[in-house]
Amino acid sequence: MSAPAYKRVLLKLSGEVLMGNQQFGIDPEFVGELAKEVKEAKDTGLEICLVIGGGNIFRGMAGAAKGMDRAQADYMGMLATVMNALAMQNALEQLGVPTRVQSAIEMDKVCEPVIRRRAERHLEKGRVVIFAAGVGAPYFTTDSGAALRAAEMQCDALFKGTSVDGVYDSDPKTNSSAKRYETVDYDTVLADNLKVMDASAVALCRDNAIPIVVFSIREQGNLAKVLRGEGTQTIVRK
Ligand code: UDP
Repeated sequence: MSAPAYKRVLLKLSGEVLMGNQQFGIDPEFVGELAKEVKEAKDTGLEICLVIGGGNIFRGMAGAAKGMDRAQADYMGMLATVMNALAMQNALEQLGVPTRVQSAIEMDKVCEPVIRRRAERHLEKGRVVIFAAGVGAPYFTTDSGAALRAAEMQCDALFKGTSVDGVYDSDPKTNSSAKRYETVDYDTVLADNLKVMDASAVALCRDNAIPIVVFSIREQGNLAKVLRGEGTQTIVRK
């Protein structure tokens, strides 16, 4: 299979990936391993935007389920994504990869606000740009944040690193005969409620023709492989 011509990609990692083998929070050693993979990908000449979730620290839905006001809990979730973004920036810069964090909730002591033209300039200069705080509004997720930034930054594809190696027709953890799709269209994902990203994120990618590449980030070296179009993955597209 020939390598797809990706020039600029958005990589979405869920917060849980940063936990490594812990049950909660951030494992700096594991974040360092992830940063090495991002560096390896960047060294091939790719422009990389990153969006990291916050589920390793706090999810608004979980707070709401325990009686919190949903919007308040979501703001806490967004702040969690900023902590993760700073952890990843630290790990990348320790490897010599210049990185800027832009947050959808302004926090000028720790990072920049989201400014598209400035982000463009960072990418041109070879910096990785990490977009934090999702879309900056409650009742959304970082999947929607990732879809929004991928559209805004005109990324060629959205790479969603998960603990599963693609999209299946049923849950591979509970059904041993679950079948993995090589490619699947957006409308099937939405109609069959396949576990890719939340519906608003998938719809935004569909409406802007952004392919979603779902792959496992748990396997070492896999990111570079899927960016070359190799390895196990599912591509969601038209
Ligand atoms: N969140 C939000 N608006 C956004 C992005 C995130 O309110 O635009 C909140 C929401 O509470 C969410 C939490 O931040 O549960 C962490 O993000 P997410 O659940 O997407 O993280 P992931 O599952 O990717 O680790």
